[in-house]
Amino acid sequence: MENNKPAEQAEFHSFGWYAARVSPHMPKKAFKAVPGRLWGGLIYAVIALGGIFSIAFFDLNIWLKFLIAGVLGSSFASLGFLGHEILHGTVVRKRWLRNFLGAVAFWPLTTGPELWKKWHNMEHHHHTQDEHKDPDAWPSVNKLAKSRFLRWMYRIPFTIRALSGFIALAFTFTLHSSHMFVTYIKDFNKEKQVKVWVQFILPWATWIGLLLWIGPVKWIFAFLLPLLIANFIVMAYISTNHRLNPLVPVNDPLANSLTVTVPKWVDVLHFNFSYHTEHHLFPGMNPKYYPIVKRRIKDMWPDRYHEMPMSKAMIALWKTPRVYFEQDQLVDPTRAAAYGSLGNGLDPNDIKSRDVDLSKLKLGKKKEE
Ligand SMILES: [Zn+2]
Ligand SMILES: [Zn+2]
Repeated sequence: MENNKPAEQAEFHSFGWYAARVSPHMPKKAFKAVPGRLWGGLIYAVIALGGIFSIAFFDLNIWLKFLIAGVLGSSFASLGFLGHEILHGTVVRKRWLRNFLGAVAFWPLTTGPELWKKWHNMEHHHHTQDEHKDPDAWPSVNKLAKSRFLRWMYRIPFTIRALSGFIALAFTFTLHSSHMFVTYIKDFNKEKQVKVWVQFILPWATWIGLLLWIGPVKWIFAFLLPLLIANFIVMAYISTNHRLNPLVPVNDPLANSLTVTVPKWVDVLHFNFSYHTEHHLFPGMNPKYYPIVKRRIKDMWPDRYHEMPMSKAMIALWKTPRVYFEQDQLVDPTRAAAYGSLGNGLDPNDIKSRDVDLSKLKLGKKKEE
């Protein structure tokens, strides 16, 4: 394989290494918990309850129902972003309050706080883009060779696969969250297991209770459609945060993460969730200060940092496959075509592939074309 990495890119540093170099330049208050962010959460919660009750109690015009469903979906997603922050401890410090508020904020997305902390804080943050340990990382071609489902998926023609991949963003978060429950439930001790079960069942019980109360038609607008919209919004970030980056041997956030840029008002609505590289350097920092972290990173390591508009990242995601080959290439096994990853030859302005030889991998299908 050709090696087109710049020499300095070849070495990796941990997130602690970067954090130690950036934190002296940060104001102390950036590391303080900010309960004031809960006001934003309260506004979203009031909007969400208002929307659900207006659909439940009134016979509204269909267009108004769609509009309310859109607002609900957007509020569900924003509450999820706030829940993410709360459970990183950047909003309140008291453990019980953190768990309680995190549970409330994640209620619409039906993810319990204990499960989230294990899946996201422990596993995703500590093992980002580690093929085996990051629960959010996409598989390599070696795993593909072992999975009948993945092999089947990559035989679907490209456009249909890309389109299905995008439609799937509308339910992937909920699906993945349930998968995480199954994956990690046995890792908790007996006492915690009960907690995790209760936190999984209670939100679903509420939403199913709502279905029984208001009936399926209203429920579609009050919960199901908003849930799909919220899934799409959070997945638009989650899928662009790491999936264009390589798998890495060291958890180096500048190599394995992408910061997307969105209009300022979107950052306000989503609590600066777009600053994902900065978040991986400082998961415990008030995101209001991420723009300062970004300036520092760009001063110190301009060649290593990746950022692009969300729309460009989504287009790149559409055009590239999601199977890793030799850690830093993305490969379409059906066409035996490899694309680079960010920092490793992928140019989002000009996405090109080259042929690779996958014949040794026994993918159950010979190379076409
Ligand atoms: Zn991440
Ligand atoms: Zn996080």
